[in-house]
This record gives sequence, structure tokens and C-alpha cells, in this order.
Amino acid sequence: MFFRLLFTDLGGERRFASAVAKRLESLGALTQGDRRAGPSLSAYNYDSAYGKKALKILYTGITEMVRPGCLSDRADKMKSFIRRAEAALNSVGMEDIYEKQSYDVRRFLNRLLGIAPDIQNRLFEIFVHILDDLVQKARIEGNLDIGIVDLKANVIELQGTPKTVYVDQTRGASTVLFTFILDRGVSWELANTKLNEKQKAEFVSSGDGFYKSKRHWLGKHRVILTFESSNSAMYKIVRPTTGESTRDMHIEELTRKYSKVSSLKEAKIGWEDDYEASSKQCMHGPYCKFGKSCSAGSRLQEVNVLGGAILPVWGNIQTVLSDQVRQMDKRLRIVRVETTSDNRRFVGVRIPNEAVETVLEGFFLFLCIPSPFL
Ligand SMILES: [Zn+2]
Repeated sequence: MFFRLLFTDLGGERRFASAVAKRLESLGALTQGDRRAGPSLSAYNYDSAYGKKALKILYTGITEMVRPGCLSDRADKMKSFIRRAEAALNSVGMEDIYEKQSYDVRRFLNRLLGIAPDIQNRLFEIFVHILDDLVQKARIEGNLDIGIVDLKANVIELQGTPKTVYVDQTRGASTVLFTFILDRGVSWELANTKLNEKQKAEFVSSGDGFYKSKRHWLGKHRVILTFESSNSAMYKIVRPTTGESTRDMHIEELTRKYSKVSSLKEAKIGWEDDYEASSKQCMHGPYCKFGKSCSAGSRLQEVNVLGGAILPVWGNIQTVLSDQVRQMDKRLRIVRVETTSDNRRFVGVRIPNEAVETVLEGFFLFLCIPSPFL
């Protein structure tokens, strides 16, 4: 699929391109297909965190009468331009750039439309230059935030056949629901392999090994595996149920909540017990108040991802997500999934399990409305 964004050279008109690009980019897939192929859509997404930063630098430059990186022999010309730019911004109600609190890119682009073309274009050019610099710098430092999360688990498989849930009448593009089952668990064998590999590769740390929780949880001690992390006093935590934790634990917390298990046999029993139980139920046990859809601390996790043509059903997804109870579920989450047995890759919007039915119902309503009314 190709998207072409058309706009004239007038700075303010890029506002529209920016609005469209933002929407497309949040879908991720479109711009991530092949990042080597030409400039990505993000080149036109001004309304981003980097856009805000660029605007801040631009405003500061205007209020302090300096243009970062400007040649000193042209300082006079620059000063005269800055004075005109300031007057022009004032004339469209942007007196408040001194207050430095509103770095609202959309408002800036909107107001820019009301300014004479020569100043409009130059201001916009400066803004884009600053933005390009910022993005380039972030890319070099390797921390450009592309907003896509890779789903990780030891086993990831597609469950059943992907369902076509919506077909766009005019273009014939379809929206597909993929359901994945993720197994995050770590078997006793795998845990030992991890421990042995770590001890072969690096020095043996006395803190490495199996621990059990001091407190009971559903009548049992929980067993974990820890490795000293490269950060001092921090430990990596591996659980039989959910695998390696994204959060490292400080030694103080580790020794307060857990005690080292000296007998491998004891560790094995606890580990395998948890590993087995977590394949059938969440950490709250068989009587979890959240019901069947709760997957907290559970080895197996169902993940629903909507892929294919997303734009035609965009409004519907947004509405359903904004109605979700949990803050985490309200956010639009673009995920990338790779199946572990056959390495097939998927990109799409993650739909909270509780919301799948509602999303699909919304598509059904779409289909029922006669096309002249759409
Ligand atoms: Zn639960």
C-alpha cells in the first residue's frame, strides 16, 4: 500500500500532512515495513515529542534573539528577520511564546497559516531544521522512540486461523484479527541451562541461584532464579511462571523478601509446582475475582492483535479503547509479534482481551449501514 501526502510549499499547510502522518504513524506498520526505503512518514510528523522540543528551541531563539548555528557575519540579517518573525507571530495572537509553557505544534502550524508567505516559509524551515537535527541526534544515540513494542515469550504461536473481521467496500482491503498464545514460562531444565550458561560465561557470583519467598502465597513459597546484574547491587529475576522480569531487583529487596535455597531438590519441587499450576490459572488461584480473562502471573497469555487495513476501522478502535477501565488498556499499543516455530512476523494494534467482542460488534454495525450513509 502506498500513501502520498500532497501539500503546497506554504509552511502552514504542512499542518494537514502532519495530522495525517501522525495518524498513520501511530499505526506503525506503514512506516516500519522497511526503514531503509526512503524517508519515512515520520519526516512529516511534526506533532511529536521531538516537534515540541524543536518548537521550544525555536521560541527560545526568537525571544533571546539568537538562532542556534547561525553564522556570526550574518547576525544582523538574522536579527532583523527575528524581529519581523516576532512581530508576525504577535499579529496572529502568539504573544505568549515568551511564557515558554505552550509548545503546541498544532497551534503553531495553524497560526503560521495567517502569516505572510516569506516569513511563514522561513519560520517553518527553521523549525524543520531544528527538528531534523533532534531526530538525527536521537537516531545516532539509538534512542529514537518508535513506539512499537515487541512481544516476548519463550513460545509464541498463532491460535487458530486469523479472522477477517472487516472488508473495506471501496478498496477491498481487509482487517484481520490474529489471536496468539504466548507461553512465558521457564521450565526447570531451561532455568538450569540459563544458570549454567551464566556461570560459564562470567564469574560465579555468590548471589546467583534459586531463592524462595519468605511469605506464603496461596499456601506455598514461590521459587525464583536470580543472577547478579551488570548494575551493582541489582539482580535479574527469572520466574517459572512469567519468565525474566523486566524489572531488576535490588539486593536489599531480594534478601528482605526471599531466602536462598541451598537444596536443588527443594528448588526443583517448588519450581515445577509453580510452572505446572501457572499453565492452568492466574496467580490469584482458581477463584480469581477477575474471572477467566485474568492472566496475571499466568504462563499462558492470550494476545489479540488487529492487523491488515486499520484505517477504515480506526474511529471504532479508538472509541472502544477509550471506554476501557484500565489505564493501560486505553492506550493505543502497536505491537510486533514473531511466532517461535515458523518465525512469521505480524504488526498491529493490540486489543485488550475484554474488548475484542465490542470491537468486532462495532465492525458489524459498520457493515450494516447502507454505503450512501457512510
Ligand atoms: Zn487473576
